[in-house]
Amino acid sequence: MNHTPRKRFGQNFLHDQNVIQKIVSAIRLRKEDLLIEIGPGEGALTCQLLPQLSAMHAIELDRDLIPQLQQRCSSIGNLTLHNADVLKFDFSAIDEPDRPLRVVGNLPYNISTPLIFHLLQHQTRIQDMHFLLQKEVVDRLAAAPNSRTYGRLSVMIQRYCRVEPLFTIGPGAFNPPPKVNSSVVRLTPWKIAPVAIEDESHFSQLVAAAFSQRRKTVRNSLKGWVTPEQFEAAGVDPGCRAETVALEGFAALSNQSRPQ
Ligand code: SAM
Repeated sequence: MNHTPRKRFGQNFLHDQNVIQKIVSAIRLRKEDLLIEIGPGEGALTCQLLPQLSAMHAIELDRDLIPQLQQRCSSIGNLTLHNADVLKFDFSAIDEPDRPLRVVGNLPYNISTPLIFHLLQHQTRIQDMHFLLQKEVVDRLAAAPNSRTYGRLSVMIQRYCRVEPLFTIGPGAFNPPPKVNSSVVRLTPWKIAPVAIEDESHFSQLVAAAFSQRRKTVRNSLKGWVTPEQFEAAGVDPGCRAETVALEGFAALSNQSRPQ
């Protein structure tokens, strides 16, 4: 294709065929799967995925890529291409409400976190998501308590999904090469939530407040949010830092302190 990659669309195109095959194998497709690719770009993944499926959807923002992509894919499978911003895309518009969605994408780095949260609004319809992201972001998604990378993103994602980092990819697999390593991660929304949260909005604000001052104890960072009695009822030591509190601890703090 004769397209100059655009930085503002986060365009780092995959060209290493071994890496492309490794990603495609990790997804373990079945013919009847309802797969949506985010940001197909020039079709590096699309062209390998499409022949394995009866049909597939892809959402691409850069309209200059659409005609070439359409032409390239028309002879190899049944692709429905949506020229849209995935952050505004209404997934319920994919008109097969009874089929679980599988989502895949070498994501534009600048929108990866808001996009994952956007998708999680549809989590009951999603079977799984395979994303290629900056390694540093995957490390944060997967981090356990007591690690340097554990933070708000880890808690908020792990509340919704099982997070499985799969493998790391060096900059040389892309054109142009990014400055950092990338990783492939599988996110699988829980069928049964690991914790019960009574007020989602309160939970998310409380987690944000706890990590807003990482170096402080939760007694201080959650002043005005959680009383000493509520810490005790939740079984969380107010003298510890947020990075030592597990998802279960945040859920208990949120349920104890939720507005009545
Ligand atoms: N899948 C291709 C590959 O692996 O070579 C391209 C990956 S490139 C990192 C990201 C792609 O997402 C680009 O094609 C870019 O135009 C597209 N993109 C960027 N922002 C987008 C958005 N908001 N909605 C949909 N697509 C977007």
